[in-house]
Amino acid sequence: GAKARGRGALCFFAEEMTTAARERLELESRLRQALAQEQLQLHYQPQADIATGRIIGAEALLRWNDPQEGAISPARFIPVAESSGLIGPLGEWVLRQVCQQGQRWLDAGLPAITLAVNVSPRQFQLTDLVASTRTALAETGFPASQLELEITESALAERFEEVLKVLEGLQGLGLHLAVDDFGTGYSSLAHLKRFPIDVLKIDQSFIRDIPHHCDDMAISAAIIAMGHSMALKVLAEGVETQEQLAFLVERGCDSYQGYLLSRPLPAADFALLLQKQALAAAAAPTTADVGF
Ligand code: C2E
Ligand code: MG
Ligand code: MG
Ligand code: MG
Repeated sequence: GAKARGRGALCFFAEEMTTAARERLELESRLRQALAQEQLQLHYQPQADIATGRIIGAEALLRWNDPQEGAISPARFIPVAESSGLIGPLGEWVLRQVCQQGQRWLDAGLPAITLAVNVSPRQFQLTDLVASTRTALAETGFPASQLELEITESALAERFEEVLKVLEGLQGLGLHLAVDDFGTGYSSLAHLKRFPIDVLKIDQSFIRDIPHHCDDMAISAAIIAMGHSMALKVLAEGVETQEQLAFLVERGCDSYQGYLLSRPLPAADFALLLQKQALAAAAAPTTADVGF
């Protein structure tokens, strides 16, 4: 009868939850191991100035290559790291790796660019982000002015006073702050105005369907105009086509990243790209040469 079926469904549901929970725990313990055994890597996705096309920065993105399973997406393991608290040590590891890498590139004579690091909202609660950032900068020697921290818009929507204090502390170190996935997170403009922010990153969902969706074009244009009216730089994420780039150029967007420019690259490949650009710039005639 209905009662028996109901009980059966309940059992089935409970079993499914157990399986999901077990898988989560298992993933967490493997991630913990991967962190300890240095099986995690950072890839770097170039960011270019829209007017000149030159690379002016890169976003560091975590990659996990599991010996058995192959590549595991950050979209899958970051939430697990967040709910387990592992994002604390993981986030500190990322920050230190990026600063170390950035300083090595400077030592090798590569041009100074900005390196952007994603920060999870949980890192605000779990760790003293200001202290660990200060330590990472001091111990690697990387200039704070070349470091950018990306905070998702949704992280700015909660606990205003607490978040404001942390952001002001970070700004005090001399680094830059970017709002990631902007346009998707319901942050209030009144709050946004009070945060010491430097860059808005237009979420890739608004870029994807340009030039076919008028709404997305209107939203992107509005974010650029609003950002500029607040004296912020605006970067577009997920740019894949020339049409999208042309639209952003026309609207005066400051910079962009996306597959059109480059996929995220292993550190060595990114360094080669940067070096190639520096050599090409040195070889090209400068404006001073163009006259006589
Ligand atoms: P995000 O910070 O918004 O990063 C942008 C994502 O878009 C990256 O995915 C990137 O590979 C992808 N992407 C870049 N260009 C294009 C494009 O032209 N088209 C499309 N379709 N996608 C593009 P990824 O690397 O899988 O990272 C996913 C998310 O995981 C990131 O989103 C970020 O929220 C999180 N994440 C990655 N690394 C870290 C990290 O070190 N710490 C924290 N807390 N989160 C991280
Ligand atoms: Mg990001
Ligand atoms: Mg984003
Ligand atoms: Mg994201």
